[in-house]
Amino acid sequence: MSRCSFCDASPVQWHHVCGRPSPSAPYFNEIVIALCGRCHSREHTVLRRLGLEWLADGSDPLAHELARLALLCKRLADEDDSWHVGAGSLREVQQLTLRAVEVLA
Ligand SMILES: [Zn+2]
Ligand SMILES: [Zn+2]
Repeated sequence: MSRCSFCDASPVQWHHVCGRPSPSAPYFNEIVIALCGRCHSREHTVLRRLGLEWLADGSDPLAHELARLALLCKRLADEDDSWHVGAGSLREVQQLTLRAVEVLA
């Protein structure tokens, strides 16, 4: 059984780390981590506060995805917690990183 990446509680919901552009749009990718209901709603509160819940008009989708991924890495590192990622997530992180390399190189 999957456990919450922050507090080890279960059951979990799968949080899409990079989110989606708007409420009815498809997700950017399938990078998902396990979060309990309490930690999941806290993450979305943080994302809203930082203006990262949705893709703002005119902003770069790749930069948005990377910002959300980086934020989560930092929050997990600050609390010394480990990733409980969904199947295929690491491969998608790899692909996102490679896209960033192509753009930034
Ligand atoms: Zn939790
Ligand atoms: Zn979520």
